[in-house]
Amino acid sequence: MTTVPSLHGSELLRLVGADTVVPLVNGEERRYINLDYAASAPALASVATAVEALLEWYSSVHRGAGFKSRAATAAYEGAREAVRSFFNASPDDAVVFTRNTTDSINLLAGTLPEGTHVVAFAGEHHANLLPWKRCGVRFLAVPESPDEAIEQVRVALRGLPACDDPHLAAVTGASNVTGEIWPIRELAQVAHENGARILVDAAQLAPHVPVDMVADEIDYLAMSGHKLYAPYGAGVLIGHPDWLRAGDPFLRGGGAVKLVTVDEVLWADLPDRQEAGSPNVIGAVALGVACDTLASAGMDRVAAEEGELLAFARERLAAVPAFEHYRIWPAAHPRVGLLTFNLAGTGYDLLAAVLSAEYGIGIRHGCFCAHPLMMRLLQVDEPEANRLMDATRDGQHPRLPGAARISFGLGTTRADVEAVAAALQQISTDGPRWTYRLSETTDEYEPDPDPRPLPELPMRLGEHHRTSGESA
Ligand code: PLP
Repeated sequence: MTTVPSLHGSELLRLVGADTVVPLVNGEERRYINLDYAASAPALASVATAVEALLEWYSSVHRGAGFKSRAATAAYEGAREAVRSFFNASPDDAVVFTRNTTDSINLLAGTLPEGTHVVAFAGEHHANLLPWKRCGVRFLAVPESPDEAIEQVRVALRGLPACDDPHLAAVTGASNVTGEIWPIRELAQVAHENGARILVDAAQLAPHVPVDMVADEIDYLAMSGHKLYAPYGAGVLIGHPDWLRAGDPFLRGGGAVKLVTVDEVLWADLPDRQEAGSPNVIGAVALGVACDTLASAGMDRVAAEEGELLAFARERLAAVPAFEHYRIWPAAHPRVGLLTFNLAGTGYDLLAAVLSAEYGIGIRHGCFCAHPLMMRLLQVDEPEANRLMDATRDGQHPRLPGAARISFGLGTTRADVEAVAAALQQISTDGPRWTYRLSETTDEYEPDPDPRPLPELPMRLGEHHRTSGESA
């Protein structure tokens, strides 16, 4: 029997900065333990290498006759096909490069036909919540189970006013707060049975499990390169071209047109029509390379290894006293590698500061751009939610309820999980070993004093201006 070597530590999936050492407040140094992949992931080494190589050939794309322009254009268009293939999008789908998921969803929201209504859950990330507020939208309560989610969408779509065009169900692929993987295929089928389309916010899904747009019947998919190990500022919106080419483009400007007079404009075909302005060639190519690298590693394997790590982490962390884990669906439901929790007795924001300052562990804390879901998970009742809203409106800074989140990626190991579990155990038993204060400027806890020097980066940004200002 042959054993398949683990992807962890493989050269193919090596990450830039995987061995970075960071200072602790007590003067020691530690290998940085990154448990914040869900917010943004480090670059794959293959991506960084490709970007370095591309810079040599970097030039304007599409409109330049120069040889470098031709090379850069070929790379840019190649990236489009790499992304299409990674998500198994249909050959007819438009693949539009954007800045990120937020940009992609706003783009789609701006192209909805007149009369098309949107159905979305209240537990979505703000990126899949706020853009719909300018459309006809019906927000659904956070469902208690996947079956309830499917049923809610069915009922909501049937209750929408008749429209010549399809309506749209906008759902997350995986929650950025609780990690549950949503029943995309079933939701897509319900949408289609009821004459609607589906958008999947794949920001948290794409880095963790295989996504097959054809098999899962996904009409539109939005995602961010910086969460898929390509942090160079590009994201993508993939989907049916009809809405994207009807009407005026989301952004108007150069590159999106065939011909312009002062009185008239003939818009270009897709994808150019929705990519006005000079495109982010580096970002798009980086995203394409990340897709190719992950495809050659095999997203099934990535998912399987992460699943094992998550099971280990859940067991290990459940043993930590005072560990309160949040989830919306039964514990056995499949999920991506992230855990949101509180440690009873230690504020979530203080906890994040302590993990960083004393243990060299980076996590995320707060409300994770999903305020309605967090209010529900933390059982904040309506009067309290209103009080927070009023106080914030009045310019006060009320302390918002929140939580801590650890999230895994390609570089996460069992040792990392052990380290965070041991740290949480120690904090819950002994408390912080340093002093902290709430900063008036950031509203965040900071070590006091904080003797950690920032790294000596080769760039001295703004120093010239400071120096010349001082001498003036
Ligand atoms: N959707 C989900 C589920 C997310 O987790 C995020 C970011 O964390 C976004 C959308 C927005 O992504 P971006 O900030 O890259 O636009």
